[in-house]
Amino acid sequence: MNKKIPLALLSAALLSVTVAGCNPAEKAPQKIDQESSAQMTALDIREAPEGKLPQGVKPSAYHLDLTLDPRKDTFSGRVAIDIQLDQAGNHIWLHGKNLSVTKATAQLADGREVQASYREVLDSGVATVEFSEQLPAGSFTLQMDYAADFDRNLAGLFKVEEQGNAYALAKSESIQARKYLPGFDEPGLKAPFSISLTVPEGYAAISNGPELKRETVPGGMEKVTFATTPPMSTYLLSLSVGPFDVVERAAIPPSKYRKDPIPLRGFARQGRGGDMNYILDITPKMVETFENQLQRPYPFKKLDIIAAPQWPSGATELSAAITYREQRILVGDNPAPGARLALVEVHAHEIAHMWFGNQVTPPWWDDLWLKEGFATWGEPLALRIMEPEGGHDLNAATYAIGAMQLDSLASTRAIREPVSDNNNIRNAYDSITYSKSLGVINMVDNYFGAEKFRPALGRYLEAFNGGEADSPSFYKVIGKETNTPELTETFRSFVEQKGVPQLELALDCSIPAQAKLHVTQSRYKPLGSPIATTAQQWSIPFCFSSDSGTQQCQILTGKEETLELAAGSCPSWVMPNAQGSGYYRWNLPEPQWQALTERFTQFAPTEQLSIIDSAFAAFEAGKLPAPRLLDVVRQSAKADKRQVITMPLRYLRKYRDNYLDDAERLAFLNFAQNLYLPLLSNSASSEDADQQMLHSALLGFMALVAEDPDTRNQLMEKATAFTGFNTERDPQTLNSDLYEAALTVAIQDAGEDFLTHLIKVRTELDDPRFENASANAIGSSNSPKQIETIQKLALSEQMGPRESFAMIRYALAQPLVQEQHWAWLRNNFVQVVDKIPAQIRRHTPAFANAFCDKKQLDELQQLFAQHGKLTPGYQRSLAQTEERIQLCMALQEKGQSLMEALPKSVALANK
Ligand SMILES: [Zn+2]
Repeated sequence: MNKKIPLALLSAALLSVTVAGCNPAEKAPQKIDQESSAQMTALDIREAPEGKLPQGVKPSAYHLDLTLDPRKDTFSGRVAIDIQLDQAGNHIWLHGKNLSVTKATAQLADGREVQASYREVLDSGVATVEFSEQLPAGSFTLQMDYAADFDRNLAGLFKVEEQGNAYALAKSESIQARKYLPGFDEPGLKAPFSISLTVPEGYAAISNGPELKRETVPGGMEKVTFATTPPMSTYLLSLSVGPFDVVERAAIPPSKYRKDPIPLRGFARQGRGGDMNYILDITPKMVETFENQLQRPYPFKKLDIIAAPQWPSGATELSAAITYREQRILVGDNPAPGARLALVEVHAHEIAHMWFGNQVTPPWWDDLWLKEGFATWGEPLALRIMEPEGGHDLNAATYAIGAMQLDSLASTRAIREPVSDNNNIRNAYDSITYSKSLGVINMVDNYFGAEKFRPALGRYLEAFNGGEADSPSFYKVIGKETNTPELTETFRSFVEQKGVPQLELALDCSIPAQAKLHVTQSRYKPLGSPIATTAQQWSIPFCFSSDSGTQQCQILTGKEETLELAAGSCPSWVMPNAQGSGYYRWNLPEPQWQALTERFTQFAPTEQLSIIDSAFAAFEAGKLPAPRLLDVVRQSAKADKRQVITMPLRYLRKYRDNYLDDAERLAFLNFAQNLYLPLLSNSASSEDADQQMLHSALLGFMALVAEDPDTRNQLMEKATAFTGFNTERDPQTLNSDLYEAALTVAIQDAGEDFLTHLIKVRTELDDPRFENASANAIGSSNSPKQIETIQKLALSEQMGPRESFAMIRYALAQPLVQEQHWAWLRNNFVQVVDKIPAQIRRHTPAFANAFCDKKQLDELQQLFAQHGKLTPGYQRSLAQTEERIQLCMALQEKGQSLMEALPKSVALANK
């Protein structure tokens, strides 16, 4: 349903389309408007759809022919769209933004040609095509000639320049395809694409279909024609052109589920093709693993892997042309362990998308989880099999627990909620959609059994092969295929409600032979939370274990339930999240916490993660005393697994940043040294990748949070040697996992000159990971003398759009210079918004995430009251940032109590 738009808003939108600026691409529509003023009166533009397009108009095929020369500033071409019209009409709604359409005609089925005019109506890229006469119901072909500017903020068809070469790439998700293609830019409106691109001679050209032929055309150009794709959504379009290195690989061999081999290629900017070996080496095995798990063939005719010189997100699953921000995959043959893990995770995610999203597509953005949640779940699904010892179950558990942070806010989203406004679409791309979905799917997979759930998932893919499926269709197929209706209810209650379930448990041993467990469910809320105490309930797959050694499971549906313990005697402990796969938090009376803490090291690592999370959650809800929480932290440092040891670090950082008195600095340092220095020295020369990652994480924590002088020195020396500051450059001293921590310490400790040096090194080293990390490090400068240099740099051409965003975010988290940077940001907000990628502008309120006081909160609200219109869709991020600041303030007393509970003076255990 379309909301009516207030007229005032509408005329503002119209004005911005037809009058805005000197962009030649915007002049033509104005001309068409004048010519077609006769029909304009007939069309009520207040009917312009702010969200979904009206039903009854569907594309059935696209023929796209573009001339793309990345050395130029504009591109042009023609699209012909076969359209099915359910009812006769004189106009249709579609999408297009800042396009200069010079000619539009409709070819009717009877061969007649009808004149048409194209007009952009809403700023979000809603356009209309009006016809000079009523078109009959049935099919027709809409043909449009058009031109537009290449985007410069990584949105739509954008160009970037790297090392003197220009590249053009299309980043269309979610609704940016309309910036280079007048069409139906909505995921559920799938159609086959026949694409040809005219590009400079010798340039690589990549699209979704395999290249069919290449012909020379006048003007030093070549026309590249691609095979027609299966029906696909516009957000998955790939159009990449530039002097890329092309790495040809042996085709992925046929498999049990597929008889044809899949040609495999890699693309990287000139000179960097050799750095793609790692990802290309693992790709065949990964494709095969997914085919086996889903029992379905890879759905496309080829697979290209593209390292984009710049890309607004980490990666995007363009069909058969997966595109990565280059620093995620140009890792050389021997990547640092953290870089390697990030690579295999993102690659598994993108490959999983070839089925989840690309083959079966959510019809609208409210069902984004059906592609993002399942692709995220695809990471541990495949990686567990490819690397059984890789700790991927634990990584998945930490991501799900990470989502609980956001899910604890009143201003969180449900995994699935209505998206009725184009400006809100991007807000669905958060850890709720990705990581909470992962947690919920994992919980279901574990509880109901992989052997039941996964084949059902395969049949769901089969049922909707090549088409679209929404959540109700998903629930229905899964419930039916597994013959487990409770499963549907579990999915529904977690997917369509926001918040984390909180289970309060009490053991009743009044009759020891008939021990009982009372469980009450509610929605988790921390101190100061505005979450209303309502009767919100979930259908929770609940498993607990106790000292009887058995595990008991039951679906909790009621507000309060009493479970009989199978053991028949009073247990000495109860673990309320057996296997740690439940997406919920829990709390016990304090003696029970003590019993768990004492046995901490005996629990499975995923259970240990649940204990740590629930302990911090109970503390922040005012239900667990500080000394008990510190015990849990101490126990976590005795665990075997990196993920368990590092779990509390994020919290410790928050408490130290916000609640630590100067007088307690030494106590914090002592506490951290006692826990983590022995672990640092144990892992220092380990060959094990996980130990190496632990080492890097602890070095960063000890240097930047605990401010341990020795660790800082060690990292500073590494950074100065690596960058050749007052010495010969030694590239071996630093692996890329440590770039950020080491460079940050050096920026803060190595003297004022290091900043100038680092800015220079950035231009000399062609190392994408270094570029990223050094931007963050520069943002972390705490020297008042460097403030101005940093602010200038953030807005300069020397910084990529994403790097600027990160740099400013880091700067605003530095207590010593925060106030000056904050004042600067407020005064230069327009320029900052202009500099950062279009896709992340809505996140600008999160610049204030590190704040914890009322004055800054007020200033934040004023800033967006004044400038919010520059960052459409900002409201979600603003509400969440405001709430975080308020919760941080509300936790003041508790947080201080934790810092005060640190032992005052402790001898160093093992330095
Ligand atoms: Zn994804």
